[in-house]
Amino acid sequence: MSTLDHLFEKIADGSIPSYKVYEDEHICAFLDINPLAHGHTLVIPRQKWTRLDELPDDVSAALGRALPRLARAVMRASGAHAYNILCNNGASAGQVVPHVHFHIIPKHDDGTGLPHHWPARPLDQTSAPALRAAIQTALR
Ligand code: AMP
Repeated sequence: MSTLDHLFEKIADGSIPSYKVYEDEHICAFLDINPLAHGHTLVIPRQKWTRLDELPDDVSAALGRALPRLARAVMRASGAHAYNILCNNGASAGQVVPHVHFHIIPKHDDGTGLPHHWPARPLDQTSAPALRAAIQTALR
């Protein structure tokens, strides 16, 4: 077991110190210890789920309710006018701490924040209909 496995649960229950900015019954938010930018904040469910797709509806709703409010507060406090919300799911997607977390990353005029390189390619129109159908089927 890695020391990261229960890190965010311990931050949530206060047994590991952090700079908490918000907490309620379901979630808490605290400053990232290695910020990409001034104001970089993490928002987590108090209970551990590894990935976003595992969350029950009530916890998802609590996160969804708090995120815009926290984003507004982080913007106001940090002086940034833009920001990214990031949620890495799975090690190959860059997730290091295996406990769902949303990054609120302010983008400042000095260029600090999430590096913006997005290697997008045009949607493959040939396979798009089948892909849409597969996702719609998976949603049922
Ligand atoms: P991720 O790569 O999406 O799993 O991001 C994990 C984040 O957790 C990184 O931005 C780390 O800087 C942050 N982090 C790790 N340990 C702590 C800690 N003890 N307190 C606050 N943030 C932490």
